[in-house]
Formats: sequence, C-alpha cells, structure tokens
Amino acid sequence: MKAYEKNFRHKHFLGQNFIIDEFLLEDIADESGISKDDYVLEIGPGNGALTRCLLDRSKCVLAVEIDKSLMPLLKDNLKSYENLTIINADFLTYDFQNIISDFEAKGFDKKINHIKVVANLPYYITSLIINQLLLNPYISEMTLMVQKEVAERIVAKPGGRDYGILTLSCNYFSETSLLMIVSKKCFDPMPKVDSAVVHFKKHADIIDLSNNDVFHIEDNEDYKKLFSLIKASFSQRRKKLVNSLVNVGGYDKDTLLKAFAKNNFDENIRAENLSLDDYIKLLSTISIQK
Ligand code: SAM
Repeated sequence: MKAYEKNFRHKHFLGQNFIIDEFLLEDIADESGISKDDYVLEIGPGNGALTRCLLDRSKCVLAVEIDKSLMPLLKDNLKSYENLTIINADFLTYDFQNIISDFEAKGFDKKINHIKVVANLPYYITSLIINQLLLNPYISEMTLMVQKEVAERIVAKPGGRDYGILTLSCNYFSETSLLMIVSKKCFDPMPKVDSAVVHFKKHADIIDLSNNDVFHIEDNEDYKKLFSLIKASFSQRRKKLVNSLVNVGGYDKDTLLKAFAKNNFDENIRAENLSLDDYIKLLSTISIQK
C-alpha cells in the first residue's frame, strides 16, 4: 500500500462513501448503457473504482473530483488509461465550457454528440447536481446513485406519498427508471441508509441543440409559470388542490373550478393526483380563461 493510500481518511462532509463491491461497480457501468462511442462525465470519482469500469466501456471519461488529497491515488490507480481526464474542482462551480472544450479535443462535436453522466453522487449536494444536469442540454443521459428515499421520489407515480416537485421536475426533462436498490453494506464507510441507482433519459426536445431555447430554459415564461403553479400546488399538500392554489398561488377560485371541470378533474383532488401533463393542461386552461 502506498503512503497516500495508507494515510487517506474518508471525509464525511464530502459524502465519501466509496463502493467496495466489485460486482456492483460492473453492474452500474453495464446498466448505464454506455458504449465505445460515448463521452462520459463522472462526478466524484473518489478512488477511481467506478471510473475504471466506465473507461473500459466508453470512448473517454472526464472525472471531476473536489478532494485534492485523492489526486495522487486516482492518478496512480488509473495511470494505464489514455482516454481519461481528471479535473480537481467543485463540479457545482466548475465552468461547463471547460468540460466541453476538453471533450472537443477528443473529437466531441457539439452539433452531433451529447454527454452521458455516470456517478455515485455525494449525497449532501444530490439535488443541486441533479438540477444542474437536468438543465444542461449537452447532457442526454444520467445514471446516478442516490439515497434510496430520493430515488423513490424521482420515479414516483401520481397518487403516492413520494410524488412531488422533484418527480415532476425530473419528468419535465426526462424519462426516469429505477435500475437497482443498493444495500448500504456495499460502501465503505457504511452509510446509515440504503441507496439506489436511477437512470434519466432526457426528452429529445430538451437536448435539441439546434433550438436556442434549450440553453435558457429557466428563463422560459411557460416553464416558469408551470413550476410556479406546481410549487403552489404542493405548498400545502394535505389540503385540496383548489385551496392551495387560492391561498398560496393567488388564483381565483371560480376560474380554477371552471378549469378543473373543463379537464374533468374532481373538485376534491390534491396536488399529488395530477400528472405533469395534467398540470400543463390546467395551466393552459387557466391562461385561456384569463
Ligand atoms: N465514485 C466513487 C465511488 O463510487 O466509490 C466515490 C463516490 S463518493 C459517494 C462521492 C465523491 O464525490 C467523493 O469522492 C467526494 O470527494 C466527491 N465530491 C464531493 N463533493 C464534490 C463536488 N462538489 N464536486 C466534485 N466532487 C465532489
């Protein structure tokens, strides 16, 4: 064992729970569906165990790791690979244009190619990272290890306790599926809860780079109106939807009831009963009535 390996201490505050199950590493890489044509981004490579499996299956991997003390270990473990770039940075603040430029040096064409992300995410910033990845039109697919409870919220169906703003936001950008549940015993150090791997396949219009709107989706008025309606709907999720929308959203009760009737929604429904399409229909009916 090299000195830096012996001296390495996992940093809890950086979410450093490393995968120690070899079969799991291979399974994640297999299930991600990446192939030799793919440009892969890994967030938080840690000691490089998953990175190695990704390198074996892809055209190239760019790995962004915040912890400087992991650099010698990571570089040494993966020194035999030429198709790897390691960047020591905080993914949340790192300029994505640099990632694109690095891939471009390896043949990436912005007009044709997309990036696939595979990562065992640091749990303390899971939502922030997922949000950034969803909004990024260069990224077409993500295979992400998250806490089991977060995974259940991502893939939830209407009507359940887990269904909410996170589900609808993931549905807006992508088709999601639960790939596997992972026991906490597969990590070192062992976390308190189990994990799960979720796959996101972005909708074609969300990653259509010939459409300028995809780069500014947060500023798109329809998107902003839709998510302000959804946020108001879930702000009091135990109440009837109509009451939440009147109390928090500031909508007019008569307008709402007419829009409900037009879309065949029961007057007593709650926020969790509507699908993303239902919310889109509701917004469009309300807007027409105004
Ligand atoms: N990929 C390794 C594995 O699967 O065993 C390690 C995964 S561990 C759950 C999360 C990794 O993300 C850690 O190596 C941690 O240092 C890194 N990390 C935490 N915050 C980060 C950030 N803001 N940007 C990049 N990496 C980060």
